[in-house]
Amino acid sequence: RRLALKRPDLLRDGAYVNGRWLAADGDVVTVTNPATGRVLGQVRRSGRDEARAAVDAAHAALPAWRRRTAKERASILRRWFDLMTAHADDLARLLTAEQGKPLAEAKGEIAYAASFLEWFGEEAKRVYGETIPGHRADARILVTRQPVGVVAAITPWNFPAAMITRKVGAALAAGCTVVLKPSELTPLSALALTVLAAEAGVPAGVLNVLCGDAPAIGDAWLEDGRVRKLTFTGSTAVGKRLTAAAAGTMKRVSMELGGNAPFIVFDDADLDAAVDGALLAKFRNTGQTCVCANRLLVQAGIHDAFAERLAARAAALVVGDGLAGPSDQGPLINDEALTKVEGHVEDALAQGAILLTGGTRLDGIGHFYAPTVLTGLSAGMRIATEETFGPVAALQRFGTEDEAVALANDTTAGLAAYAYTRDLGRFWRVSEALDYGMVGINTAGISTEVAPFGGIKDSGLGREGSRHGIEDYLDIKYVCVGAV
Ligand code: ADP
Repeated sequence: RRLALKRPDLLRDGAYVNGRWLAADGDVVTVTNPATGRVLGQVRRSGRDEARAAVDAAHAALPAWRRRTAKERASILRRWFDLMTAHADDLARLLTAEQGKPLAEAKGEIAYAASFLEWFGEEAKRVYGETIPGHRADARILVTRQPVGVVAAITPWNFPAAMITRKVGAALAAGCTVVLKPSELTPLSALALTVLAAEAGVPAGVLNVLCGDAPAIGDAWLEDGRVRKLTFTGSTAVGKRLTAAAAGTMKRVSMELGGNAPFIVFDDADLDAAVDGALLAKFRNTGQTCVCANRLLVQAGIHDAFAERLAARAAALVVGDGLAGPSDQGPLINDEALTKVEGHVEDALAQGAILLTGGTRLDGIGHFYAPTVLTGLSAGMRIATEETFGPVAALQRFGTEDEAVALANDTTAGLAAYAYTRDLGRFWRVSEALDYGMVGINTAGISTEVAPFGGIKDSGLGREGSRHGIEDYLDIKYVCVGAV
């Protein structure tokens, strides 16, 4: 049974190369709804040859695309934004169906995803250069920024729409062409966005989209010298392997990898705000975001009150199929994810953690796990060092500010961190001492197209969104001009 959409043609199963849809008539990738286990579609499974054909198309389309004025590229991106906005309901339903997040969250993601197209279209017009006083009396120096060329983008399943537009929007705005491989778990959103991109006027070859055999496609792109940049969001292990392989043709890389976010609550915090923030930072997307709080560090004086309130709020979250009715939390993406979450909780409990609520998978179909809060997190537990990527809030009690900062920084990850305090001195000390690319102070809502998203340490390289996001797709060129 097909998903009911106002625009049924948004549900695609092909690969899109050089402006043409290749049908799903041979090998396929099966896409299922993680809430129901039902098959949503079977998408063409591409391999090395098609990956190469996609680069042929992107390479051929590059000269004309980069020659267009920024204003022309911007108006196409703006039309794509308008189409995403007009079809937000369909896109959100498709997203919930293949990914599982509640429909309200999916609508939020579609608006967030579309915002990158609007933002980068606007930024395209502001790719300014410089003039530098010459080093000789008869010399003038110009600095310009040019598109890096063909970009390969590989994206994950947790934000099936937004992770695409924040790469593709920036790349297209800069004058690059793109070959994109979305996650095999959530290709339908990517293909729907592709339909709208074509409708918006993105020319043939400028955006090519396929999924299938991820290592084969990735290898074809990595080995190809015409691909000048790889932008990836996904696991740290895969990101490191791709970064090493990109060195073979000295591609630029942008890597958005895993986090292990600390969420610090000091005694002087506004308790209500901290509980609201923790709910959002932990349970949004069923805990499956790279900026989700993974370790909740709570100062001794506020610990018990915070734990009690958070547990009550978590226990009240409505868990269910996002398309079946209002819910606060959906399923995990697959059985592997569910098993990992169970393993983390079992390991923590075996090492002395105390369960306040949750701690079980939910009966029935779908990969549902109860929103969970536990206390007594300690350094030897898997939750402390690995990204749980699930709805488990693990609290650790601390004494002093120095201890909190040391615990927070004791990880190889460096993506997002959060701290709640009303002390101005502490705000400065802690936000500067945290070894993270992003810090939320008294807020958990840090993701926006206007700010630079990205990490340090093992969490990656580069920034997405903001005026910095387009820089990752531009090379600097310096022209020395004799002035005689
Ligand atoms: P996650 O744990 O979020 O699934 P992955 O790193 O496994 O993270 O996946 C992120 C993206 O990377 C997906 O699109 C996936 O298909 C792709 N991917 C995984 N392994 C490889 C690989 N060896 N080469 C290229 N892409 C890969």
